[in-house]
Amino acid sequence: MKIIEFTRCNHRKAHRVEADICNLLDSGGYMADIRIVCDDCGMPFRFLGLPSGVSTTIPMRGAFMGVEACLPIEPIDIDGPVPENTLKAIKDTWAESAERRKREWKL
Ligand SMILES: [Zn+2]
Repeated sequence: MKIIEFTRCNHRKAHRVEADICNLLDSGGYMADIRIVCDDCGMPFRFLGLPSGVSTTIPMRGAFMGVEACLPIEPIDIDGPVPENTLKAIKDTWAESAERRKREWKL
């Protein structure tokens, strides 16, 4: 077995988020499978605070070293129409968060 040498990377410069959205045919629901890696060296991050295993209703982390979060999701209009100003507020909040991260992290 080949053991990969760990780099001296501190994993703090840049990160890449990979996500797959799965349509659950049995329940009609959705699942977001999320992975995060250090963009400099490729080291995967593991998710903390989630139980290990598989569930279509509870957030879990994949059994293999916890490097994948499996999150049940649904569109927010599942219970009815969402007011346009609510959607705008959500998008504005995302944009503000992105700007704050750029400023604070000097990206
Ligand atoms: Zn790294």
